[in-house]
Amino acid sequence: MEKLKKRSWAEPFKIKTVELLKMTSPEDRKKALEEAGYNTFLLKSEDVYIDLLTDSGTNAMSDVQWAGLMVGDEAYAGSKNYYHLEEKIQKYYGYKYLVPTHQGRGAEHILSQILIKQGDYIPGNMYFTTTRLHQELAGGKFMDVIIDEAHDPENLHPFKGNIDLQKLESLVNKVGAKKIPYVSVAATVNMAGGQPISMENLRQVHSLCSKQGIKIFLDATRAMENAYFIKMREQGYQNKSMADILREMCSYTNGCTMSAKKDLLVNIGGFLALNDYEIFEEARNMVVVYEGLHTYGGLAGRDMEAMAIGIEEAIQEDHMRARIGQVEYVGEKLKSIDIPFVQPIGGHAIFLDAKKFLPHLKQLEFPAQTLAAELYLESGIRSMERGIVSAGRNKETGDHYYPKLELVRLTFPRRVYTQAHCDVTAEAVEAVYENRNSIKGLEMIYEPKYLRFFQARFKRL
Ligand SMILES: *Cc1c(COP(=O)(O)O)cnc(C)c1O
Repeated sequence: MEKLKKRSWAEPFKIKTVELLKMTSPEDRKKALEEAGYNTFLLKSEDVYIDLLTDSGTNAMSDVQWAGLMVGDEAYAGSKNYYHLEEKIQKYYGYKYLVPTHQGRGAEHILSQILIKQGDYIPGNMYFTTTRLHQELAGGKFMDVIIDEAHDPENLHPFKGNIDLQKLESLVNKVGAKKIPYVSVAATVNMAGGQPISMENLRQVHSLCSKQGIKIFLDATRAMENAYFIKMREQGYQNKSMADILREMCSYTNGCTMSAKKDLLVNIGGFLALNDYEIFEEARNMVVVYEGLHTYGGLAGRDMEAMAIGIEEAIQEDHMRARIGQVEYVGEKLKSIDIPFVQPIGGHAIFLDAKKFLPHLKQLEFPAQTLAAELYLESGIRSMERGIVSAGRNKETGDHYYPKLELVRLTFPRRVYTQAHCDVTAEAVEAVYENRNSIKGLEMIYEPKYLRFFQARFKRL
C-alpha cells in the first residue's frame, strides 16, 4: 500500500451558500468573446466559468460579515459602524484618523488633490493604474523608483517590491525635496507580479525621507498579504504576529489609501487613514464634496461594518496561509510543466509571461491581451491583461508606454474557489500553451481616453 506522504493545508472555512456556475460550449465562448471585442473586461460575467479577472470586491464574505450587514446603522451622521471601523483601523493599522471612501480611488483622489501641486514628482515602487492617474490629474508626475529586479520576471529576489534607495535619492537630489510631496509606497506590488516590499526597505525609505522632510503614503490595499510575506521571508519576523508586522509597516508611513475590496474581504469600500491632523482636516472637507459625509464617505453603514469585521478575519494567519497558499498551489503546478510566469509566485495572482508564451507576437500585437482572450476561448476562465494596453499612453508625447512586462494576470478571489477549480485552471493554461504556435495577435479598434484597458476593443489579425 502506498502512503500519502505529506500533510496538506486546507481551506480554513466550510461552505454554507453556493452560487451556481453556467457551463458554456466553445461556440458560446467564441460568440461572447467577439461581442466583447476580445477584451475580457467586456465579457458578461454570466458567460464566465472561473472568474480570475480580479480579486477586487470579488471576495466571499463570512457568515459573521453577512450578519454584520444587519447591524448596519444607516443614520446619515455618526453611524456606529463608522466608529467600529475607526477602532479596528487604529488597532491594526495604527493610524489616528479615518476618512471612509467608496473605494480605493476615492481615497487616492482626495489625497492627490490635497498634497500634489502642478509640477510635483511622486516617486513610487511601480505605478498602479488609478493611483498614477490621480497623481497626474492633480498635476504631478509619477516616477518609478522600484528596484530593477522587479522588471525581470525571472529574478527570484524575495522582495521585488523594494524601492531602490539610490534611484529615490538621486531623484531627490535632482528635483529637490520641495517638489516631492510624498513617496507612494505600495505593499505587495501588483504590477510587479504581487511582489512584497521588505520591512528593512520600508525602514530605510522612512529614514531617507525623514531626513529630507518628505512624507510617505502607503497603498495598503494588500498590506496584510505583504505582512505574511515578511513573516515567511524576512529574518527576525518568523515569531511576530501578522498584526505586529502590519502595524510596524504602517508606522514608517504618514498614512494610507486603501481599497478594502482586496485584503479586507468585502465587496465594496475603502478609506484614507492619516496621522497628520491638518491633512485629515482637509480630507474631511473634501470627502463631503466628492464621496459623502465624513462618517460614511459613500458607503452604507453596513458596508463599514463588514469592513470592520473583515479586518479581524483577514489578519488571521490561517486565512492568509490559505489565501496565498492557493496561488502558490496553482503556481507550483504551472512551474512543473514549464509555463513561463513571473517568479517568485505572487501573493494574489499568477502573472503569465505573455512575451515568452507567445514570442512570435510583437508588443503592438498585444500578446497579453491575446493570451487572455485565448484562455477564455479554451476554458471559460477569465483573466486580465497587464501589459501595453494597461500601461496607456504618455500624456506629453501621446505615444504608448512600452512596459517591459507583458503579463496576463490570473487573480484569485479570496475564499471563493476550491482546489478543484485550481486544477482546472492549471490544465486550461497547459492546453493553451500546447497550442501557442497557432495563436494570432490582435489589433486595437477602439481606444478610450482614460484607463483604456477597461473598455478598449480589438479584432483578430
Ligand atoms: C484596486 C487597487 C487600487 C484602487 O482601488 P479601487 O477600490 O479599485 O478604487 C489602488 N491600489 C491598488 C494596489 C489596488 O490594487
